[in-house]
Amino acid sequence: MRTINHWIAGKLSTRAIERSGDVYDPATGEVQAKVAFASPADVDAAVAAAKDALPGWRDASLAKRARVMFAFRELLERHKVEVAKLLTSEHGKVAADALGEVNRGLEVVEFACGIPQLLKGEFSENVSSDVDSYSIRQPVGVVAGITPFNFPAMVPMWMYPIAIACGNTFVLKPSERDPSAANFCAELLRDAGLPEGVFNVVHGDKVAVDRILHHPDIAAVSFVGSTPIAKYIYETGTQHGKRVQALGGAKNHMVVLPDADMELAADAAIGAAYGSAGERCMAISVLVTVGDAADRLIPMLRERIKKLAVGPGHDPKHEMGPLVTKAHLDRVRGLVDQGVAEGAELVEDGRDPKIPGAERGFFLRPCLFDNVTPEMVIYKEEIFGPVLSVVRVPTYDRALELVHANEYANGVAIFTNDGGAARKFQHEVRVGMVGVNVPIPVPMAYYSFGGWKASLFGDTHVHGKEGVHFYTRGKVITSRWPDPRFRGVDLGFPQNR
Ligand code: NAD
Repeated sequence: MRTINHWIAGKLSTRAIERSGDVYDPATGEVQAKVAFASPADVDAAVAAAKDALPGWRDASLAKRARVMFAFRELLERHKVEVAKLLTSEHGKVAADALGEVNRGLEVVEFACGIPQLLKGEFSENVSSDVDSYSIRQPVGVVAGITPFNFPAMVPMWMYPIAIACGNTFVLKPSERDPSAANFCAELLRDAGLPEGVFNVVHGDKVAVDRILHHPDIAAVSFVGSTPIAKYIYETGTQHGKRVQALGGAKNHMVVLPDADMELAADAAIGAAYGSAGERCMAISVLVTVGDAADRLIPMLRERIKKLAVGPGHDPKHEMGPLVTKAHLDRVRGLVDQGVAEGAELVEDGRDPKIPGAERGFFLRPCLFDNVTPEMVIYKEEIFGPVLSVVRVPTYDRALELVHANEYANGVAIFTNDGGAARKFQHEVRVGMVGVNVPIPVPMAYYSFGGWKASLFGDTHVHGKEGVHFYTRGKVITSRWPDPRFRGVDLGFPQNR
């Protein structure tokens, strides 16, 4: 069986593999490969390669760094269908969605191509007599990225293109559930002319992550994943002197006011709740319907759910694929059972999916709950599957209270035709990313992505200006080139002539 190994110093590792994990094809339920699990010594080897490569890469000209990014962008564009196929085979998402993921990652690479512009400093002439001040931003050193299963290509690309373009060297620890895209991109970076050791990949679990968090030569860690792990990464990484940004889980609400265009809202909710089988950190998992909105919306949702084509992601007629693993499928099904037991009304029950030819795949059809209340576990927990809960509230104020009472604050959306109500909402809602008649308001690469509260630990969001800030340190230089006419010792306080 194929083994997916670490990528260290520009090639696959030849070190002996002590532990490994199974990589499934979620559409068939079969194990398709083994992935090496890094030992602390494997992580040390990757960090050593990154450290060796640092002096040369940090001092490479901006022109050279930008050229490598442009070349990587071209290669990724040329090979994006192959990357998308890897995503479908290991994650399970349907082909169009997988290609969409690669395209969103490409946008960050394109942003990173502008690094000479992004790293421009400021200059003030004559802050004192013959004295100029200027600011520059320099790379932080060897940095690491630890990423989740749900976007195996895009989430790492939120990190490494910018980190590398800023002059850092990188160690990526992707999800052990869908590890192949990381290695494929490592090969493309090599082919783009990136010197060996600037980008390394170690696969594995907590053992690899813990070594990263404790490693004295790693200066900064970016993490994306679930909230308990994000909190652990932030606390452990910062205790060990690292700069850390750790993005966590979510429970995104979509508020539907009674004046909304209900057909538009129904289309949006279906895509946002069930796209990628609900395994998106920006998926809508709660519909907060105000007044009588639910009475009109729910029949429209049900009609659309019945038509959704669920099946293996490589078949272009399918709109929703399987969940990532059997363990995850069992957890999501268990939560649906619990919702029923708690008294929520399961108006669309996807627990018996019947997918001809894929009976052993990890499938669930879309589930829709009505009359969910905030005390129920299905409301409180991040389900991360194709399960949408409708919570009915009487007023806009109650909807806002509900959003604010939630521990997460990643994304939120409002659907309305009232511009004043939408403006009031975007102003007062305490959530990191807000959509107005847009269900999944993921910022473009040149803005920064991140939530508030339990959805982010740390101060900086990813990509955009904040990404550049995270991967660089500021320095201010004050310089005097004295005018030879004014020589001599002066013990007084410098005068501004
Ligand atoms: P996860 O937290 O289980 O895993 C994320 C990473 O942490 C993986 O690389 C994994 O190997 C590692 N990890 C897992 N357990 C660990 C442990 N005990 N100690 C150290 N490292 C550990 O997340 P996941 O299941 O891969 O991804 C889904 C989660 O990610 C969801 O909660 C989702 O909301 C979140 N997510 C958030 C964003 C965001 O932008 N906020 C984006 C994508 C996904």
